[in-house]
Amino acid sequence: MLITTTAFTAVPCPEVDSLDAILPEEPLLMMGAGPVPIPAAVAKANAIVINHLGETMVKVIGQVKTMARYVFQTRSKWVLGVAGPGSAAMEMAISNLAWQGTRVLSIQNGFFSARMAEMGRRVGAEVSVLDVPDGTVASLEQVAAAIRRERPEIVTIVQGETSNTVWNYQLKEIAELAKAAGALVIVDAVCTLSTMPLEMDAWGIDAVITGGQKGLSSIPGVSLIAFSDEAWARVKGRTASNAHWCLDASLAENFWHNAGYHYTAPVSGVLALHEALRLVCAETLEKRFARHLKCSVALQAGISAMGLKLYSPAACRLNSVVGIEVPDGLSPADVCGHISRHHQVEISGSFGLPIVRIGQMGEQCRAHNLFRTLHAFGRTMVDLGVAVELPAGVAALEKALSGK
Ligand SMILES: *Cc1c(COP(=O)(O)O)cnc(C)c1O
Repeated sequence: MLITTTAFTAVPCPEVDSLDAILPEEPLLMMGAGPVPIPAAVAKANAIVINHLGETMVKVIGQVKTMARYVFQTRSKWVLGVAGPGSAAMEMAISNLAWQGTRVLSIQNGFFSARMAEMGRRVGAEVSVLDVPDGTVASLEQVAAAIRRERPEIVTIVQGETSNTVWNYQLKEIAELAKAAGALVIVDAVCTLSTMPLEMDAWGIDAVITGGQKGLSSIPGVSLIAFSDEAWARVKGRTASNAHWCLDASLAENFWHNAGYHYTAPVSGVLALHEALRLVCAETLEKRFARHLKCSVALQAGISAMGLKLYSPAACRLNSVVGIEVPDGLSPADVCGHISRHHQVEISGSFGLPIVRIGQMGEQCRAHNLFRTLHAFGRTMVDLGVAVELPAGVAALEKALSGK
């Protein structure tokens, strides 16, 4: 038999650079709005592949759920993971709880809360929007009026709107209003989970979602969701099946609760998430919240002392991601490009807003990262011709971190 090896060259074999040639010699310090730096234990776990089914995985999944319940502050059984970004967890929440004709009220603070509304429309829900301008939160009166008017079956809200750095500090009260009107409450905690208090059960929340690459300091691409018993009953009671097969919570139950097969789980990412959650538990939520608060407030003090302006008013300022106004004459891309090229620090712009954002999520909240970032940021401003008081900024950071 003649074996020919020349028939497969219609598309020639490409020549590409190795990753070593592409990546910087020293990794950039990831201080933007995510992904964030990962601890060594998370990186190590992420390098392992195991069988996605069987005894070891069952043990890992069991512990992930137990630790996630602590982080979500829920006793609900219905914790599941999802292979995908935070947005996949958002879509899992909305596509399992809403369908053709479901009345959804979306409290919309910005880019990410608008995404959840769009996902609702795409599953055929009747979505009404309570539009909240930048720099403000929806008042309880506005929310109550919208609930009376729209009679929603589901209310969606973001805890921290990462795009414009607004914190919905009345989340608990808003959830109470929604519950009192018989609506289920979906909370996007992708940015905030484990960086600030969120009590799923005590606040009456029916679905909480998070990604890996923000507060939890895991890798992007594996996310978590928790449903309340009431939400789970709605998932189980629906008659039309979810059009998103991968995101169907009833199918995901096979893997996440019955040691069976749904799709091949992203095992390395699940192991990484396990380690990230284990580190949260080792630290405890109380200490983790305190660390985040202290670091973010110190960073904000440093930025203000340099003479730059924070984007959100103090009353509703998100601590997990700090938004900074870019002085006239500069663009966010100028600032982000310069600090990355010259100081090996990554920060973020924000979807057309005149701000840059520095993250304070997970491993970003470490004193050494703050000093390097604030210094790099101040130098960048000076290099770009903005007369900031860099030494005053660093002094303010030191003062705040040392509790003076
Ligand atoms: C980052 C973020 C998302 C989207 O997460 P992806 O992993 O990019 O899909 C959604 N909501 C909030 C509040 C976020 O910060």
